[in-house]
Amino acid sequence: PLKANDPVETHQITVCVRKRPLSKKELTRKEVDVITVPTKDQMVVHEPKQKVDLTKYLENQHFRFDYAFDDTGSNEMVYRFTAQPLVQFVFEGGMATCFAYGQTGSGKTHTMGGDFHGRTQDCKKGIYAMAASDVFKLLHSPKYKSLNLRISASFFEIYSGKLFDLLANKAKLRVLEDGKQEIIVVGLTERVVQNVEDVLKLIQHGNNARTSGQTSANSNSSRSHAVFQIVLRPADHPNKLHGKFSLIDLAGNERGADTSSANRQTRMEGAEINKSLLALKECIRALGKKGAHLPFRASKLTLVLRDSFIGERSRTCMIAMLSPGLSSCEHSLNTLRYADRVK
Ligand code: ADP
Ligand code: MG
Repeated sequence: PLKANDPVETHQITVCVRKRPLSKKELTRKEVDVITVPTKDQMVVHEPKQKVDLTKYLENQHFRFDYAFDDTGSNEMVYRFTAQPLVQFVFEGGMATCFAYGQTGSGKTHTMGGDFHGRTQDCKKGIYAMAASDVFKLLHSPKYKSLNLRISASFFEIYSGKLFDLLANKAKLRVLEDGKQEIIVVGLTERVVQNVEDVLKLIQHGNNARTSGQTSANSNSSRSHAVFQIVLRPADHPNKLHGKFSLIDLAGNERGADTSSANRQTRMEGAEINKSLLALKECIRALGKKGAHLPFRASKLTLVLRDSFIGERSRTCMIAMLSPGLSSCEHSLNTLRYADRVK
């Protein structure tokens, strides 16, 4: 298995998988863990052909990625191999994205937004906060100090193809294209931040805005993509963009299958999620190929991230999350197949 201090390789597209531990609830109902991580880059789903004795009817499915994290790895460790290498890239003038993908309950928000303790979330332990912390370390480092950059942050949610500002009472936002093919989110809050504490406050605020007043089982947050962005601009030319890091907690991929629901609203949301996850996969794949078609107009998600999908100056990392239980087996296989096709 992967060790915390193993060397980190960087690629234009990095695809990783992470399995979470069985929860207390799952353990009490004697849920079987069907996922193993035999090496530092492999995930195996032990799929029973019939729902009987696991040890007798195994048909194992192997998948290989850049890194595979087992259920002992911390968010810090996942961060080190995924988003951390992208921070420096953003200082070099790059456009970076990091996506958390997977079914509802697989650990996307835990990884990106921070550990849950009951209903409260410790945002310091999430990838959003760790990336922000490294941004400030590099900002004051000898290498980048002379760039004289100004850091700001935005946090919004895409729900059913509509944008809501998580830093402004979920105000609805419009997306416009200017004459130069530039995508503009009109009125999006971009708060200037001086230090890590400033960013942590924004993350906590946005996290709370996302989850408040919802039941976890059927919450809106499982049907929305959350986009947290750290923006670097020259302090003396604040209209210019130097680099941008977008960190995205995607909607539950199982929601994309809601297209046959009896409820019209649910059906439309499912169709939108499906469309956006398919477009996302194609946009990431296109990064690795010259002249490939970039279907960024196919969804709001890919439209607003368009500037992060063009050219050499873009890098991305996808972390596919897995729930280890037998009852999640089908969803886990779907997640692994999707992640397998991203690169
Ligand atoms: P998602 O955002 O994918 O729907 P969550 O991040 O809300 O899933 O995780 C579901 C539950 O599992 C939460 O209670 C969370 O604390 C727990 N969990 C997720 N990943 C881990 C992990 N790696 N270690 C421990 N608990 C985890
Ligand atoms: Mg979540």
